[in-house]
Amino acid sequence: MGYAEFYRRSIEQPDEFWAEQGRLIEWQTPPQRVCDDSHPPFTRWFVGGTTNLCHNAVDRHLKDRAEQPALIWVSTETDRERVYSFRELHQEVQRTAAMLQALGVGKGDRVLIYMPMIPEAAFAMLACARIGAIHSVVFGGFASVSLASRIEDAEPRVIVSADGGSRAGKVIAYKPLLDEAIRLSSHKPQAVLLADRQLAPMERVAGRDHDWAPLRDKHLDAQVACEWLQSTDISYTIYTSGTTGRPKGVQRDVGGYAVALAASMQHIFQGRAGETYFSTSDIGWVVGHSYIVYGPLIAGMATIMYEGLPIRPDAGIWWKLVEKYKVTVMFSAPTAVRVLKKQDPAFLKKYDLSSLRGLFLAGEPLDEPTARWISDGLGVPIIDNYWQTESGWPILTIAGGVERKPAKFGSPGVPMYGYKVKILHESTGEELTRPNEKGVVVIEGPTPPGFMQTVWRDDERFVRTYWQSIPGKQVYSTFDWGIRDADGYFYILGRTDDVINVAGHRLGTREIEESISSHPGVAEVAVVGVADPMKGQVAMAFAIPKDSSVITDAAAALKLEGDVMKLVDQQLGAVARPSRVRFVSLLPKTRSGKLLRRAIQAVCEGRDPGDLTTIEDPSALQQIKDLIKQ
Ligand code: AMP
Repeated sequence: MGYAEFYRRSIEQPDEFWAEQGRLIEWQTPPQRVCDDSHPPFTRWFVGGTTNLCHNAVDRHLKDRAEQPALIWVSTETDRERVYSFRELHQEVQRTAAMLQALGVGKGDRVLIYMPMIPEAAFAMLACARIGAIHSVVFGGFASVSLASRIEDAEPRVIVSADGGSRAGKVIAYKPLLDEAIRLSSHKPQAVLLADRQLAPMERVAGRDHDWAPLRDKHLDAQVACEWLQSTDISYTIYTSGTTGRPKGVQRDVGGYAVALAASMQHIFQGRAGETYFSTSDIGWVVGHSYIVYGPLIAGMATIMYEGLPIRPDAGIWWKLVEKYKVTVMFSAPTAVRVLKKQDPAFLKKYDLSSLRGLFLAGEPLDEPTARWISDGLGVPIIDNYWQTESGWPILTIAGGVERKPAKFGSPGVPMYGYKVKILHESTGEELTRPNEKGVVVIEGPTPPGFMQTVWRDDERFVRTYWQSIPGKQVYSTFDWGIRDADGYFYILGRTDDVINVAGHRLGTREIEESISSHPGVAEVAVVGVADPMKGQVAMAFAIPKDSSVITDAAAALKLEGDVMKLVDQQLGAVARPSRVRFVSLLPKTRSGKLLRRAIQAVCEGRDPGDLTTIEDPSALQQIKDLIKQ
């Protein structure tokens, strides 16, 4: 069957199509109804079915591949490597589940996981899935204020963390950041479970903090059965940035997600049981959830969990792992490839990469020179895929497992099965059907399995934010601009909102602005994303200092800039640190007081700022222009 026919069936006969996909996973009770779309935009998948993500990722494989590798952990930061078979993973996950239960965690309770890339993080996620607790993994690069807002929103009973992580050989102590976050949050966890890697000293809070190793020792023989969950129960929440400073808890189900991942492993990634999958992402991002932990394991593959940089000890490390573990499918981000591109290309030829069938890249636009360089170097197909935290799996790509449609450079591909992707005019809501007409990329409901159910504890925000942004139409907005060419291939042209994408990491400019404004020397600030050849975009801040002499005093400006950057590091984490903080006496605003971020961005990128008839004082933009020239 060609892809066109496969896709058509998914749209025109969704119940039959997804019932078939549903057979890729194991159910305790088979679903009674495939799709319940009676309360749009809330779509319920595989209603009446009971299953468990951990069962499908681990237990299910014990029959056929108990001794095969399941989790391959490699840390070039601590120089350690460890392979867990499915049997060992099963054992560790049961121990962790028993530990969480001993700390009072039950079905529906939240467990916040703030961890570096160590096996315990995967054990904790799978243990939550096993007992029906809702995990909420927070990226380890975030600092105390970002973490506090997530603790506040998720209200976890238990937080799982570690003494620290390591990046480029530099230890990052997690525990003080966590303690500070708990202090800032009005919600307090009942217990904190800590993996001690002996990287950073830890102070324990008596009665609240528990060490992993001794508690694990008490549960070595634990047998904790999988809790059979409704398909529509909540598996996890993951926070993502939006237009406001408050992060959104993207909430996902159990059954729909399991089916979506199983189907994508077959139709998109073409990974087979017994093979090895290597995703270079982090468990703190959605890619890490779907394609480091759940997806590959559900497919019976070994998954590599890598703590380290792509260029340490040298730029051959990834390819060394591909050779050693016979990786067949790899997943990374364009930024990482751009980092490798600056290194000696001989590293691409040093190892035997014959096992590799494809490299998937996602998270940000893939530029042609990067794609060509890696494609020529590896000699395997490079598959761009476009998706979001909200979707959980690719929205646009090439489903090579169905048909090897040719890829086009610059385009992530065509809509995946189950996704009704359209381009609409941003203000009239009219569908744009002519080739290359630019509009907002939207998805018509019902959204496919695996897609977010709602915003955690805020259905109203889910509807208002995502489904009511286009006038007169209830469609899901991706908040991306896009076009579709005459052959049906889509091209993504950047965000329509104030979200920026730095090295594949999604950040809200509002969050960074709020952090900078909290500095006592800053009166007002605007943060914009500016094109960057390495990271795709970087954040640039323009601030009005309380003391106007800073504007003309270069030394004072440099000092304040450094202080502001340090503050952002402490509050949000280094990922959110702006590349520059410049000081101005005025910010460009409309007469109604709205910041003209897009005009600032255009000026920073040397583009025409467009229509400025609404600007209150054009000299504000001139100041920025002059600063940029310096
Ligand atoms: P996140 O939710 O962090 O995965 O970020 C999702 C956003 O990243 C999307 O809305 C796009 O703006 C961008 N993005 C992700 N993948 C791609 C891609 N393959 N090409 C272009 N932009 C992408």
